Amino acid sequence: MPIPFNKPYLTGKELLYIQEALSSGKISGDGIFSKKCQSYFEKKYDYKKVLLTTSCTDALEMASILADIKEGDEVIMPSYTFVSTANAFILRGAKIIFADSRKDNPCIDETQIESLITSKTKAIVVVHYAGIACDMDYIKNISAKYNLFLIEDAAQAIDSYYNNKPLGSFGHFATFSFHETKNITCGEGGMLVINDEKYIERAEIIREKGTNRTQFLNGFTDKYNWIDVGSSFLPSEITAAFLWAQLESLEEIQQKRIHIWDKYYSAFSHLNSFVDLPVLPAYATNNANSFYITTQNKYTRDALISHLKSMEVSATFHYISLHQSPYFHLKHDGRVLKEAERYTNCLLRLPLYIGLTDETNIELIAEETGLFFSNLVVSNEK
Ligand SMILES: *Cc1c(COP(=O)(O)O)cnc(C)c1O
Repeated sequence: MPIPFNKPYLTGKELLYIQEALSSGKISGDGIFSKKCQSYFEKKYDYKKVLLTTSCTDALEMASILADIKEGDEVIMPSYTFVSTANAFILRGAKIIFADSRKDNPCIDETQIESLITSKTKAIVVVHYAGIACDMDYIKNISAKYNLFLIEDAAQAIDSYYNNKPLGSFGHFATFSFHETKNITCGEGGMLVINDEKYIERAEIIREKGTNRTQFLNGFTDKYNWIDVGSSFLPSEITAAFLWAQLESLEEIQQKRIHIWDKYYSAFSHLNSFVDLPVLPAYATNNANSFYITTQNKYTRDALISHLKSMEVSATFHYISLHQSPYFHLKHDGRVLKEAERYTNCLLRLPLYIGLTDETNIELIAEETGLFFSNLVVSNEK
């Protein structure tokens, strides 16, 4: 039986809630299900304000508008991330200053940030890779010291914590994804978290195409007008109804994913002379967004992916560091980002979805990986 990289998990309630949304007669955004989802997050994680969006990409674009990013502003972020992290700021004319990753995990190397700050720096964007927290106390201190916006790309970081405080609650803004590859999903979806009250009103306007529709509908103004820039960033009630079904099962989903992750970790631990297993700093929790390993070089990583593929197991690499991308490499200032380049070449993600079983699937993947390395050792000795 082929083992795909990912299979979206359905709780069984999705159609029921979509049916409810249809019967209610309101299927455009900001209805009952949207409000239920938003207040769920606000209560559970103590976020000041949550707005559902159609994707994490959209939430990042909103954050970029809210931070008032203008032509020439500099934004510091890790190079080892998804294109949306950078695109959102490029679209507003920012110059991206890429930082390297940590040695022990792909999150931004916080010790490099301060040396990248100039008089043009406007914001620091962190990415909690695989749901593993960046060093938020350290980074928050820097953003406060230089009066910079702090934005968390928490696309992969639902239900994950830094020193017992939920990720997404540190930045002025934080963005999450409900794309089908994330822990909870509605196909395509996302949310923007606003932790500084003074940006809430503008965020609602930007999300409603630059109009004060939200205030108008809530009875706070009797005029409905175009008052700012904006776009259409809000999802329909059909999407929100789907998401609500997933939220009701969030704890169960997390338990199951963490169980699978733990099985991987123990099944792979005897291979630790061949590969590095994920490292979580003491301040970080594991939300089991993904299980990744790093090999010693690109050749081994690619050969292992091929070997697993021949066994019908879909393992994948992850990001091509953005400073090396066709779009950006000529714009990059030439600094070598050694760790980011190492993750580009050596990181490999294994299938992780609810439905992978302990004994058969995970054991098989670990055994095949072990066989691959013992053959590699033999062929090197010849
Ligand atoms: C998935 C992801 C995104 C994009 O999320 P969408 O909801 O698909 O727009 C952005 N940043 C990171 C780090 C991601 O993992």
